[in-house]
Amino acid sequence: MSRKAVLFDLDNTLINRKEAFHVFSERLLDQFFECGAEAREEMLDFIRIADRNGYRNKRELFEEIKGKYVLKDPAVSVEDLLKYWFSEFFKCTVLMDAAKEVLDSIKDQGYVLGLITNGSVHTQYRKLDTARLREYFEVIVISDEVNLKKPDQRIFELALHRLGADAQTSWYVGDHPVNDVHGARQAGLQPVWFEGFMEWEKHVPKPAHVIRHLHDLLPILAISTYSR
Ligand SMILES: [Mg+2]
Repeated sequence: MSRKAVLFDLDNTLINRKEAFHVFSERLLDQFFECGAEAREEMLDFIRIADRNGYRNKRELFEEIKGKYVLKDPAVSVEDLLKYWFSEFFKCTVLMDAAKEVLDSIKDQGYVLGLITNGSVHTQYRKLDTARLREYFEVIVISDEVNLKKPDQRIFELALHRLGADAQTSWYVGDHPVNDVHGARQAGLQPVWFEGFMEWEKHVPKPAHVIRHLHDLLPILAISTYSR
């Protein structure tokens, strides 16, 4: 009998990347920029919008921030800011509310768990380890490692193959309308959209299942309550 699986996206699904980026931005301002109390909220807002939910090229992002605000030390370069990003961002990792309780409950129902994330191997594993999430997953597929990225259906098929699970009995949970919902659907999995982080893409049909909190997954999977 084929195994049933639940596969997850990482950022803004199991990890609250939005919160993590806010924490990082606070540290960035404290470390590098002149920032009075009155200007702080406006600066944090500007950086948040410029980051485009993480889909902005980081060099461009830091060039823009450096061009707009006053550095404490004018000798600091975009290169220095990039270095700070790569060494500090993963330390700001924030777990999504109830992530571990929900993963435990799903596992206890006999599902195997997988994770598919777009990003660099180094950064994504450091986030997973900071949040102590790695042990939950039988299979972890990171786009850079396999030279495929969501929404390419082959990355979903690869993860299912490694899990020994069939698409028809498997679920995929993520926040991105195209990369996660559309991609998983193309590969034949049942998509669940984690609403609240990205705007819906009008050209993509909405999935049958939409959640606003991870615990909303349990009734969808016919799990009545947390098992631990
Ligand atoms: Mg995501």
